[in-house]
Amino acid sequence: MDPAHDAEEARLRPTYAVVSLSRLRANLAAVKRHVAPSRVMVILKANAYGHGLEAVARCLAPQADAFGVALVEEGITLRRLGIENPILVMGGIWTRQIPLFLEHGLTFTVPSLARLRDIEDAAATHGSTARVHLKIDTGMERIGVHHYHAESLLEAAARSPHVNVEGVYSHFANADAEDLADTRKQLTRFEEALAFYERQSLPTPQRHIANSAALLRLPESHLDVVRAGILLYGVYPHAGAPRTVEVQPALAWKSRVVFFKVTEPGHPVSYGGTWSSDHRVRIVTVPVGYGDGYFRSMSNKAEVLLRGRRYRQVGRICMDQVMVNIEWGTGYNGDEVILIGEQGDERVTVEELAQWAGTIPYEILTAINDRVPRIYEP
Ligand SMILES: *Cc1c(COP(=O)(O)O)cnc(C)c1O
Repeated sequence: MDPAHDAEEARLRPTYAVVSLSRLRANLAAVKRHVAPSRVMVILKANAYGHGLEAVARCLAPQADAFGVALVEEGITLRRLGIENPILVMGGIWTRQIPLFLEHGLTFTVPSLARLRDIEDAAATHGSTARVHLKIDTGMERIGVHHYHAESLLEAAARSPHVNVEGVYSHFANADAEDLADTRKQLTRFEEALAFYERQSLPTPQRHIANSAALLRLPESHLDVVRAGILLYGVYPHAGAPRTVEVQPALAWKSRVVFFKVTEPGHPVSYGGTWSSDHRVRIVTVPVGYGDGYFRSMSNKAEVLLRGRRYRQVGRICMDQVMVNIEWGTGYNGDEVILIGEQGDERVTVEELAQWAGTIPYEILTAINDRVPRIYEP
């Protein structure tokens, strides 16, 4: 045992997330092989899907063709780290933040003619050229110019002297649906809008539309760039996603037993007394709860691993603690408990937590908050 490591561990609460940098790198390499010659924009929004923005960016910068974030603040954090890859800010723009993009060399998403004018004016004043990707709404109804009005935006952008149109993109609303008809329709609308460049004999900027679900299922959507998020973290975007790219979960969530007791029959466990046993059982308490992002809606459904076996969490999940029924299995103070990850031959997945919580894997990962220390494994 390394005493320095022991001392460091003793300072942390026993609940932490372990992120495997080698798995992140391997997942990105697998996605790149699958989509080549298309390039990969690595999506880092929401603290890199809970994995830690800074560590993930540093780890993947050498392999990433570009990064994508939701907020200008996330882009600034990356620039302050010294990240030099192109960074596309994908969210809607609050006009007062426009100068921040220019100062930090971040790429704008331009969703309308009005924003194009704001950006053109700001870039002219700043004495620089704005790097932009135009956003076409082909069926998401979130941000972007509607595909049936796109030509005016594409044309105006091409004529704006302080705007450099590096890309044009759109976003799928239903790439995870069983039926791909809506997704194909969006792709067709996107291609029809892009035909503007050929008609005008202008070079076509980088075209992108595919997220993780589409890059797995619809090769014709890869175009010049794919925007890969959840798959890079080793999680498939939806149940039944075809495993055309093999990835491994990069994040494990661990804790330890901090209390052991025997509970008598008919003595309900936790707030509201939603669970009790009809026989004597061993109950262990684990210091994690909804205050960390372990959703209360998983109460009496979630399972954890202890000594290589799966056990059910019982009673309401509290803010900082949960109880686990180990029946007559063995478990002692200090034993490792796996909330997400592998132990022995067993594995608990983000997809399972999503099912127990009635949500999607994305929300499970992004909910793990900064009360949970992240530890990085090479
Ligand atoms: C989050 C996001 C993505 C990545 O989606 P995944 O399903 O995680 O691959 C791609 N594009 C846009 C615009 C996004 O907001």
